[in-house]
Amino acid sequence: MTKVCSQPQRTCLGCRQVKDQDQLVRFVRSPDGEILTDLKGRLPGRGAYLCNSRSCIETAVSRKQFDRTFRQPCQPITVDQLADGIAKELLAHMASLLGMARKSAQFVSGGNAVQDALTRRKPLAVVVLARDISPQIGEKVRRKAEVQKVVTTKLFDKIELGRILGRAQRSVVGLPDGKLAEAFLSDLLRYQDISGES
Ligand SMILES: [Zn+2]
Repeated sequence: MTKVCSQPQRTCLGCRQVKDQDQLVRFVRSPDGEILTDLKGRLPGRGAYLCNSRSCIETAVSRKQFDRTFRQPCQPITVDQLADGIAKELLAHMASLLGMARKSAQFVSGGNAVQDALTRRKPLAVVVLARDISPQIGEKVRRKAEVQKVVTTKLFDKIELGRILGRAQRSVVGLPDGKLAEAFLSDLLRYQDISGES
């Protein structure tokens, strides 16, 4: 039987491994030679692909792989700038997923509501704590989540979380099991890999 490849295969410029396109980060070269991160694969033109890893980025930058792939000189860019660019796009995408959760009312927010949700039999899939959450509340929520083996992370601040959820300020938000939470967790893993945050 022949194997069905639903995903186009691409080679990482760093480690040269061939992977499914959706496991790699796409970059394009703007007309004036700037390297742009294209997480969603929507920008036109030839793409260059890299694993979501600093070491692959380092290899590609030190070997000038972008110039080679695009067959034209590119504006100089550092490993940090590339990694920051990916992290920023992932953050923006996670914010848009939270915004979708808001629209479909698939979220729980606020310290008490999230702690309540964490004591139910079917707990949340992921809990996001604002970076500036009060340490006591943050610790309480984190401990409850840990008991239920629910992933917690610190992202955004209270005002940003509030804006995403259409409220004044939010210190904590939880997503129930489902497609949104799945997508969020996959972004989060990639974000942690590239930003070095946990
Ligand atoms: Zn690689």
